[in-house]
Amino acid sequence: MQEHGPEKLILAEPNSFPETEAVTKLGRKLRTPIEIVPTAQFLLARADFRAWASGQKRLLMENHYRRMRQRFQFLMDENAEPVGGAWNFDPENRATYHSWKRAGTPSTNTPVAEQPDQTTRDVIAMVAQEFPENPGSADAFWLPVDRKGALRSLQSFIEKRLPNFGIYEDMMAEGEPYLFHSVLSPLLNLGLLTPRECVEAAIDAYERGAAPLNSVEGFVRQIIGWREFVNGVYWFRGPEYKQLNSLGAARPLPAWFYTAQTEMNCLHQVLKQNLELGWNHHIQRLMVLGNFFLIAGINPQEALRWFNEMYVDAYDWVMAANVIGMSLYADGGYMATKPYAATSNYIRKMSNYCKGCRFDPDQKTGPDACPFNYLYWRFIDEHAEQFGRNPRMRTIANAWLARSDASKEDVRGSARNFLEVAVPA
Ligand SMILES: Cc1cc2nc3c(=O)[nH]c(=O)nc-3n(C[C@H](O)[C@H](O)[C@H](O)COP(=O)(O)OP(=O)(O)OC[C@H]3O[C@@H](n4cnc5c(N)ncnc54)[C@H](O)[C@@H]3O)c2cc1C
Ligand code: SF4
Repeated sequence: MQEHGPEKLILAEPNSFPETEAVTKLGRKLRTPIEIVPTAQFLLARADFRAWASGQKRLLMENHYRRMRQRFQFLMDENAEPVGGAWNFDPENRATYHSWKRAGTPSTNTPVAEQPDQTTRDVIAMVAQEFPENPGSADAFWLPVDRKGALRSLQSFIEKRLPNFGIYEDMMAEGEPYLFHSVLSPLLNLGLLTPRECVEAAIDAYERGAAPLNSVEGFVRQIIGWREFVNGVYWFRGPEYKQLNSLGAARPLPAWFYTAQTEMNCLHQVLKQNLELGWNHHIQRLMVLGNFFLIAGINPQEALRWFNEMYVDAYDWVMAANVIGMSLYADGGYMATKPYAATSNYIRKMSNYCKGCRFDPDQKTGPDACPFNYLYWRFIDEHAEQFGRNPRMRTIANAWLARSDASKEDVRGSARNFLEVAVPA
């Protein structure tokens, strides 16, 4: 600045409250006007989302998504109807682990084969030297670091994984970290790719007949639906949103979340992958990690800190709504109509993790029972009154209340024994 003496500094909108504050301070320090221009990292202006969200008691992603489709004319036909006659094809996108196995569809094991350049190698060495105690290792760093690499990554996803993205979106398999996911979040969040070009590349594949509609629509929804939605919630609800804890969850995070040393195989596999790659796919984050945090009663701010520490795609704007709102229901249901809590049934159906586990997914209580089973009912027990007022949870809450005292005590005892050892208060 001193050398060139510019009249003003032009910056893209900062992506978080702390960055905004830093920019304001910078402006004061430099005594140079700063002009903020809209960012290309999101499609929807913050003011636009605010105008839509204002006055709504709770926000539904699906409503935002339909509005985005219409606004940007993505996958809309000439009669202003959604292409294919439906807004989403989720019913086609719930293939289980076993149906994937039966179909024999191989996954592409690496998202891209990037050879680290000299700069990347130098940084890997520096990280190892400066942070020897940190969890994980940068030795096998695997992500593209520049625009060309990012474009290669996008192209590789469109060609190799997008066709099967939709159908296998929710499944998990041991030793298969990426399956058919795009692994574009780190590149999008860094600004190496824009959401528009990712969405347009997927729609182009559909129009060329290279990918089916259920996959393309599913992918487009993740980006213009979920990604834009969580960013909108972040700016609309402000920094206080991160402090919410509507269920009063107070347990600290256990240390094994940094080492993956647990006998629960689903958690072990997902945490191990996280230590290796700094990345998990959505269902691993939501239905294994988030689910466990939720039903074990781990404090949402502790969970948020951990997610921020451990992921290559972690940013303040994206974590707040995903962790506090979607996963931990700590906003009291502002952006999820019911908590994403599940017993072992879900994990068993959608993965092969239970096969290699020392716990038994069929047992409900006792030392060998899957902890997800009794923790789930302990969670319902703890919040039965509140859930009884939620139309989507009422049946479950009533089922719990109708149980015999002995059955309730059995669940409570198993949960207490487990938590005392695995998640001490
Ligand atoms: C507890 C929890 C924490 C999460 N933390 C992050 C995070 O730190 N950074 C992050 O980018 N995403 C986060 N997500 C959202 C989502 O899990 C990741 O974006 C996704 O797994 C990244 O992998 P991918 O690029 O292969 O995604 P794909 O499954 O291929 O989806 C395509 C793209 O859609 C976008 N997307 C999909 N779902 C979401 C979502 N819920 N929120 C925002 N963008 C979404 C991402 O940009 C992603 O790259 C989190 C979700 C949960 C439940
Ligand atoms: S049995 Fe329970 S703890 Fe073990 S892998 Fe299955 S769901 Fe996870």
